[in-house]
This record gives sequence, C-alpha cells and structure tokens, in this order.
Amino acid sequence: MVDVVLVRSSRIGWRKKMGAELSLQAFSLASYALMWRAKHNRAMEKVDAVVIGAGVVGLAVARALAQVGLETLVLEQAPHIGAGVSSRNSEVIHAGLYYPPASLKARLCVRGRDLLYAYCETHQVAYRRCGKLVLATDVQQMAGLQALAAKAQSNGVHDLRWLSGQQAQALEPALRCEAALLSPSTGIVDSHGLMLSLQGDMEAAGGALALCSKALRLRPYAGQWHLDVASQGAAEMALQARFVINAAGLWAPFLAQQTAGLGAAFRPQPRFSKGSYFSLTGPAPFTRLIYPLPQDAWLGVHLTLDLAGQARFGPDAQWLDSDLIQTPEQLDYQVDAQRAQAFYADVRRYWPALPDGALQPAYSGVRPKIHGPHEAAPDFRVDGPAQHGLPGLVNLLGIESPGLTSCLALAEEVLRRLSLP
Ligand SMILES: Cc1cc2nc3c(=O)[nH]c(=O)nc-3n(C[C@H](O)[C@H](O)[C@H](O)COP(=O)(O)OP(=O)(O)OC[C@H]3O[C@@H](n4cnc5c(N)ncnc54)[C@H](O)[C@@H]3O)c2cc1C
Repeated sequence: MVDVVLVRSSRIGWRKKMGAELSLQAFSLASYALMWRAKHNRAMEKVDAVVIGAGVVGLAVARALAQVGLETLVLEQAPHIGAGVSSRNSEVIHAGLYYPPASLKARLCVRGRDLLYAYCETHQVAYRRCGKLVLATDVQQMAGLQALAAKAQSNGVHDLRWLSGQQAQALEPALRCEAALLSPSTGIVDSHGLMLSLQGDMEAAGGALALCSKALRLRPYAGQWHLDVASQGAAEMALQARFVINAAGLWAPFLAQQTAGLGAAFRPQPRFSKGSYFSLTGPAPFTRLIYPLPQDAWLGVHLTLDLAGQARFGPDAQWLDSDLIQTPEQLDYQVDAQRAQAFYADVRRYWPALPDGALQPAYSGVRPKIHGPHEAAPDFRVDGPAQHGLPGLVNLLGIESPGLTSCLALAEEVLRRLSLP
C-alpha cells in the first residue's frame, strides 16, 4: 500500500459533497490483486477494460466505461492521480474558436465545453464562466481577428461579440487594443476538483484505480489484450482485458511503440514543447482572460486567472530535445527566470502599465506533441479499431490543449470508437 500524496482541499470538499468517506489510502496493482482475490474468489488477471493513465482524460474515459457496466481498472504509474499534463495547464474551459473546422479538436472542444459546464454545475466542481477577450493590438491584426471570428462561427461558436477598442476598454479599462472579440462562454475550472470528481464517479460505478502501476507492454491474443504491468513492491504482473485505452498523455506514444501488432503509422514519434508561466505580483488588472491573436498553433502569451483571482501570464512555447526524454524524471519543469524578458514585451502590447519586476516565475507544463517544430499542428488522434485494425484498443495521442475542456467529449468518442453504448 502507498499513501496518497494528493490530498487537497478540493478532495475534502468532494468528500463532503458526496457524503461518502473516501479512503485516504490508495493501492498499487499488487495490493488490489490480493483484495480482489479475497472479494471475488478468483485472481484479478482478467477485467473488461483497462485505462492507462489517471489524468483528466483517462479518468473521464474510465468513468464512462464503468458507467456502461464494464469492470474497469485504471493503471497509473505515479503515486497519485493528475501527475502529468492535467496538473500543469491554464485550467481554461475553451469556447472552441481556434481549431480547424470539422476537426476533432473543434468538435470535441465545443461539445466538451458544454458537457463540462453542465458537469461542474451538477457535481459542484468549482468553475467560473468569466469570459475572454481576444485582441487585435494593431490595425495589421484586424484581418486576422476577423478570420478568427469566421472560423469560430464554422465551429459552432455563435456567441462571440465584436468590440471596438473603445468598447473593449469600457469593459477592461487597463487594456489597449484596436479591436477585440468577446467570448462569453470561455471560463476556468478547478482541474483537481474535476479529476477527483471523475474518480469518485468511476469508483461509484464499480471501477478501480491502481496507483504505482506502470503498463509496460501490450499484445493481442485470442480476442483479449495481454498487458505486462510493473507494480511497486511486486514482481511484474500480467493482466487481460477486452478493451484497453491508452490515455498516457506525454508517454502515450511510448506505449504505442510497445504494442504488438500496431502499424508504424500508429506509433508517432513523441515530441515535447514546454510552456512556462509567470505570475503577476499584486492584484489582477483584468476580470476576463486576455488573449493576443494566436500565432499558428500557439495562442501567444495570454493572461489567465485562477479561481482565487490571481493573474498569471503564459504559457510560452519552447521545444525540448525529444531524443533526451524517455521518462517523467527527465523532464525539467523549472521556470527559467530569463524568459520573463520576452513576456514583458509581449504583455505590454496590450497592457502597457505592466510594472517592471512584477512577473515572478510560477510553473511550467509540457505539451504532448506528435509533430515537430516546423510542421503544422495535427488533430487529436483517437486511434481505434477502424483506424489501426486491432479490436478493443484505443490510443489517445497528441492530446494537448483543448484536452482538459474536451475530456468528457473525448470519453464519448472513445466509447463510439469501441462501438459501446
Ligand atoms: C502548458 C499547457 C497548458 C494547457 N492549457 C489548457 C487549457 O487551458 N485548457 C485545456 O482544455 N487544455 C489545456 N491543456 C491541455 C490539457 O492539459 C491536456 O490535454 C490534458 O490534461 C491531457 O490529459 P491526459 O489525461 O491525456 O494526460 P495526463 O494528464 O498527462 O495523464 C496521463 C497519465 O498517464 C500516466 N502514465 C503515463 N504512462 C503510463 C504507463 N505506462 N502506465 C501507467 N500510467 C502511465 C501519467 O503518469 C499521467 O498521470 C494545456 C496543456 C499544457 C501543457
């Protein structure tokens, strides 16, 4: 048994809300196997579905699988949930403006946003529909802003309002811009509260979470998947499942490489792009999120707020050398204070009053990329049997932003790819 590291106020809040006394201990796969044997009078080598990864996407998928009645087990290599990308992001509920029309990103973001607001409301997960402004900071950017408005329309985002510079300033007096798009359906969410709630739903539907349990390799055999799992304090274990969902975030491509029978087209090269954040000392100058016009796939140095009203800027974008990264321990999340220089210049384009010395290194996250620096950003990859030809397997690859927003819609998509109800 290992102690749960993640015991946050949101968890306590969740426990109160559910009226349930959650165990504050979690179990490695080896411990689960013993308990399972005692309860079910059979070894736990066979379950209906295994989800690899207890980030927001894996937990949303596991919840959905458990709720359709499948015996579902989540394997998480870390000693707590949300150990990966899901704990290192902007916590923004995106409205769906940016993504190529008809892409999975566009469709699942808009659907996921609606599902997520409804979920937060019914499950008392903290969120705020604070809205955001996307800016043209000079006349050269006006055409780009108009193109963004048109793209948002095609994506089904129909609530945008075009504001003149003056109108935008009336809403946010510290702002300088030529024009802005107001997106009322952009918001922020407590991502840890969300993950705990998804875990709670999954467990309430009979699913289980095994921590410190790393999926090593997979192979198909007689209509089942065989998984080798390294479990803390125990010998390697073998599991069988009809369905396997690889939701391993940054490490999903590595697991795809360890999957027997998967064609080369379905084993993309893992790539990593680091994004650093700087927090603002003092009160937030804006009440809405403020975004510059996006550049290619990068949204630019934007201002986001957390639920306590603290402002931060970022993330920026810095490609890491993928050849040097094979394990979570090899990721350096330190924020380089020197990077603040570029932030001052970028932020002052829309907030000229940013005082010198007001930005402090905060935290960073790493984007799970499956394309290189000079290639166009691909769509989410939800590779199911219709794509790779292997029954029962779904690989979730390149689930970068808006993956948090889309998590509930991604779960629906996974069930659809597996022809589950
Ligand atoms: C800087 C940044 C900002 C972002 N901002 C936003 C935003 O504002 N809004 C938004 O919608 N999205 C945002 N995103 C994207 C969003 O955070 C991700 O899409 C989402 O969190 C991905 O969740 P996941 O569950 O797929 O991955 P993860 O959270 O990384 O979870 C994967 C889990 O799998 C585990 N794992 C890996 N390998 C194994 C294995 N072999 N066996 C067992 N377990 C394993 C890991 O430990 C990890 O816990 C942002 C991303 C970044 C990097």
